[in-house]
Amino acid sequence: MTTDIKIIKPDDWHVHFREDEMLKVVTKYSSRVNRRCIAMPNTSNLITSSDQAVSYKKLIESNSHSKNFEALIPCYLTESLNIDDFTYALQNNIFVGGKLYPTNATTNSQHGVNDIKKIYNIFEILEKENSILLIHGELNRNNIDIFDREKYFIDEELFQIRNTFKDLKIVLEHVSSEYGVDFVNSNNNIAGTITPHHMLLTKDDVFKDKQINPHHYCMPVVKNESDLLSLRRAACFENNKFFIGTDSAPHQAKDKIQHDSLKAGIFSSPCSLELYASIFEEENALENLEKFSSINGPKFYGLDINNDFLTLNKEEMIVPEYTEEGNIKVKNFFAGKKIDWKVS
Ligand SMILES: [Zn+2]
Repeated sequence: MTTDIKIIKPDDWHVHFREDEMLKVVTKYSSRVNRRCIAMPNTSNLITSSDQAVSYKKLIESNSHSKNFEALIPCYLTESLNIDDFTYALQNNIFVGGKLYPTNATTNSQHGVNDIKKIYNIFEILEKENSILLIHGELNRNNIDIFDREKYFIDEELFQIRNTFKDLKIVLEHVSSEYGVDFVNSNNNIAGTITPHHMLLTKDDVFKDKQINPHHYCMPVVKNESDLLSLRRAACFENNKFFIGTDSAPHQAKDKIQHDSLKAGIFSSPCSLELYASIFEEENALENLEKFSSINGPKFYGLDINNDFLTLNKEEMIVPEYTEEGNIKVKNFFAGKKIDWKVS
């Protein structure tokens, strides 16, 4: 029986650190198990300049509990970006890439890109600088079903981006469907991140009997059993193009539902690596965990693989109902449930 596993220290390629008090909490939990994290730039002041990226990175790292923890910042792409500053920041490793949010895809994406063709000049720069295009791949239009947004984005936008910029490295973030997995697998220079919740929940866990569970509501929304199985296969076995991206995205518990509208986002940082380990164990693929958690990501991003290690012990852990610190109270993903792994 497996008692513990030692793996190269992981990186998380998609985290929402937010701001202020919340940033301290997210940093504490994310630096618990990761050496590096990509800090998403959809903060209330969008991160669109090199100066903002430098100060956001410093702010996160100064709050970290681990000495060599590193925050990597992508640029929030807009149609009105300062191209010189953007290019300078890519060349000096201030931006790890550019993040595309189509308009109204998720939190603070009302300033996202409406007509993606208008930023093809930016993709050209990313391609030339051998940098990364990170994509929230959903098309949000009135006549598109919420469960089909990823498929429509792939068909109407991503296909064309892929064909126009053949050398551009693209990460399709939080892949949520079998269709998305197939697209990543069948195209060059494209990789995908997978969250724990998309491998644990289906739409029944969110919408059931005319009730909505707000704590399972996220973007992209979780889908069918067949999608969940396909994501598990991709993470555990189709094991070169997929890596960790928890998309851990906290909201204050009291704000999750406001005026009949739901805030999208699931907070999994307190147990994310433990959840990934238990999923890989369920799939009899524990020996592949390290590739997914610590090797595929840096390889795709062209960064060094970490040289420190972490041990997961086969030990029971009950996830607390909430993460509470100071004025912060966030509902934890997997709250009250048991996981058989614990980071020592
Ligand atoms: Zn996100």
